[in-house]
Amino acid sequence: MRGARIVGMRAPHADVLREMGARGFAARVTGLAVEAVTRRAKLVVLELEGGDRIAVQPRFTGALLLDPTADLDDGYVCVRWPLSDGRTLVYRDVRRLGTVACMSPARWAAYEGALGPEPLDASFDGGALHARLARSRRPVKVVLMDQRALAGVGNIYATESLWRARVDPSRAASSLTAAETDALALALREILTASIVARGTTFRDYRDARGGRGAFAAQLEAYGRAGEPCTRCGARLASTMAIDGRTTVFCAWCQR
Ligand SMILES: [Zn+2]
Repeated sequence: MRGARIVGMRAPHADVLREMGARGFAARVTGLAVEAVTRRAKLVVLELEGGDRIAVQPRFTGALLLDPTADLDDGYVCVRWPLSDGRTLVYRDVRRLGTVACMSPARWAAYEGALGPEPLDASFDGGALHARLARSRRPVKVVLMDQRALAGVGNIYATESLWRARVDPSRAASSLTAAETDALALALREILTASIVARGTTFRDYRDARGGRGAFAAQLEAYGRAGEPCTRCGARLASTMAIDGRTTVFCAWCQR
């Protein structure tokens, strides 16, 4: 998309918009070129000429799609941006829990500054993670998913990385040793990297920009496997909602 210009905006379901209403949003972005498409935490970020950003948070059922024919119209299209290259950028969301925000450079700086570090940044390591975990007695899984402590990790990748690092998800974050934190930081980086290579985890709803499914679900060791044998020790994987109200799958034998 880099270099393409936004030539208009229509919002059939404007309730996903944040920071600005449909009319103001459209007036603000129409005519601007997309200078870069990046990611921060769970947001897809379109950096526009002049410094404004469109920040899209797809959450459970949202997808940002590049529609080559501009005729996608199944009732779930929330926002549509025709581009100067003839394609149309579409935000589609069945349950409309996701959001599409337009932010000025100052607003973005404030928003982005409140997010934790990126696990895939070169500077992220066990020491950086330990500094974040040491401040909290909450369960380590909850802190991993807290976007202010660490950016971009949700239920699937928190569950997987704790399994890989052999850490009990309910442990107090501050109780992890340096060795455990090193293992967890490495597991996070390995799992996120492998999932990106596989184009993401489509357990149900996730779609990439071309509408394709991600293949990482086939590599999941814990998430979605409650009751099945642990691939490391053979014990039956357990499941609990008690940690954070979300499903956590873990091995009670080899996660300590
Ligand atoms: Zn096990």
